[in-house]
Amino acid sequence: MERIGLMLGYFDPIHLGHLAMAQDAQKVYRLDAVYLCPLPESPEYAPVLNLKKRRKLILKCVSDKIKLYPDIIPLSADSLLIEVLSLVQKRHNDAAVFPIMGMDRLSRITDFAGIYSIPAVKALIVYSRIGYSSEKVVQLAQDSGAHSVFLRRLNAIPSSERVREQISLFNDVPEWVPSRVMHTIARKGYYLPNYKAMLRPTLSQSRLKHTVSVRKTAVDLAYRYNAPMLKTSVAAMLHDCAKCMTHCAMQKLAREKFLTEDGETLSSPALLHGVVGAYIAKTTYGIRDKDILNAITYHTVGRPNMTDIELCVLLADSIEPLRPKYPGIEEIRTLAKCDLKSAALASLRTTKSYILSIGGKYSMKAQDAMDDLLKKLTKIHQEV
Ligand code: FE
Ligand code: FE
Repeated sequence: MERIGLMLGYFDPIHLGHLAMAQDAQKVYRLDAVYLCPLPESPEYAPVLNLKKRRKLILKCVSDKIKLYPDIIPLSADSLLIEVLSLVQKRHNDAAVFPIMGMDRLSRITDFAGIYSIPAVKALIVYSRIGYSSEKVVQLAQDSGAHSVFLRRLNAIPSSERVREQISLFNDVPEWVPSRVMHTIARKGYYLPNYKAMLRPTLSQSRLKHTVSVRKTAVDLAYRYNAPMLKTSVAAMLHDCAKCMTHCAMQKLAREKFLTEDGETLSSPALLHGVVGAYIAKTTYGIRDKDILNAITYHTVGRPNMTDIELCVLLADSIEPLRPKYPGIEEIRTLAKCDLKSAALASLRTTKSYILSIGGKYSMKAQDAMDDLLKKLTKIHQEV
């Protein structure tokens, strides 16, 4: 007889606690498969992400033994679990079904008789945190007719709410969320403020498209090179927030707010929009994080000792797929797949040759960034 675990929840978003429960149940109760069944919006909870997006995040975590439940189940609030179980029974004729849930869900079930009247249901597998007194809740459930409840305890089970809290602080929480899930969250800007809508009134349509494209590329680089993905996402999204201001308006703001006294920066819109952009990110978009603000400030010409976030944004800005082709772009894109610093250096060098070829003045700041990258790369080379 097939033994199926069925884990119901909102998965908003899925995290390592869900996977730890599924893996533990699968192993301990010798289940052939555990199905993760994300619930649609219901009167009990309105998820932040819609069902389609939550299902996509779950798909990043599936394996041979842990699967996404294929059906989307329309639910009414009070018969939630029973409806799902009846459907599962229809789909898997002779299977024994083990609903898996956290202690919070068990405490909300009122109709145990209804659940156990479904012949496929063999037992409820219920998870509690270590150090959490759960016996009372289980006793109460048993008194109400839950005749077989298996209680398991796991060490650290985060909640989706706490994960969302951390995301709002731009923390990737690798100890709670698989990096491939956080990659999609950061790439799409899930659970973050809707910067795209906020930027729309101030940026041209093409600049906005470039911005979204830089976010995707920068987050892909951050994922590849193990850099903080959420901070990279926000920095990339806001890197050109001042780009559509006139040079005059940027100079005025820079002088009034004492953003820079550097003549070279003040005289070049290409340099100034980074500095002014960081100020706008802080005052208009409420960004206080130094790493993000620095990545915005230095996305144009870089600086010595750039962080990985800064390198990802600077590089993504020059190689994102919507960027009009320029000589050397494909080589930089190829290099970006194997070495972040080398690719950033190649990007700065290409800009330098272009500026010199049109008789422009090359920034000494960019030269400092290039010299520093070259020094670091030579050192790595010698160490190898
Ligand atoms: Fe820019
Ligand atoms: Fe840009």
